[in-house]
Amino acid sequence: MRKPIIAGNWKMYKTHEEAKRFAAEVRGLVPDAGQVDAVICAPALFLEQLVTETKGQNLHIGAQTMHEEDSGAFTGEISPVQLKDIGVEYIIIGHSERRQYFNETDESVNRKVKAALAHGLVPIMCVGETLEQRENGDTNRVVQEQVKAGLADISAADVQKTVIAYEPIWAIGTGKTATAEDANTVCQVIREKVAELSGQESADAVRIQYGGSVKPANIQELMGMEHIDGALVGGASLESESFLKLLEAG
Ligand code: 13P
Repeated sequence: MRKPIIAGNWKMYKTHEEAKRFAAEVRGLVPDAGQVDAVICAPALFLEQLVTETKGQNLHIGAQTMHEEDSGAFTGEISPVQLKDIGVEYIIIGHSERRQYFNETDESVNRKVKAALAHGLVPIMCVGETLEQRENGDTNRVVQEQVKAGLADISAADVQKTVIAYEPIWAIGTGKTATAEDANTVCQVIREKVAELSGQESADAVRIQYGGSVKPANIQELMGMEHIDGALVGGASLESESFLKLLEAG
């Protein structure tokens, strides 16, 4: 069985003090690793302190983006080697905000997923359609293409370590959640695409999250769906109390 994975994406929120307070508030309260994988993807500035402050607990730390090269003259960027070096374990790749505002493409997503896997980071690869694409009936085609391009030339063993996050863009930060049935249908489409690309074993193992206005009030229904193995959560991951409630549903 696939273990649920609940990940918070803090985006560009919190100060140093607020990040510290969150770590203190969840200490000792995160469910153990047998039940759920719990992850916080924080701004790069707080990663090192969070790794230290959450040591020994089932709370894993992730970054929100990275460069694909190990090192080099890339001003402002952070490499997988540097993330791994400070104890980061997860990395969000190709979030729709990165695709929209920072020119990330399916090709750069693929390079970054490969780099993450090569360095032992778990990629959380994001896919999802715009409102216009959904209204045109293009959802399945769009996510299938994103999955195919993002996972190009990746071995079955590595595909099985990858987490795919289905985040319909129209549901992010809008309060509009896809219905659990609709989210499950697209997650199933993604799983079938993984089976076609990488084999049934990969499709059975790969964990697929739903993201987009997930909160304590709706996570249970989403997690009850066959093809939804977790959630990638923005707003509702910022407060410790709400994050802990999300983990309980995992
Ligand atoms: P919200 O949960 O705030 O809608 O954000 C979703 C998201 O983009 C997580 O990566």
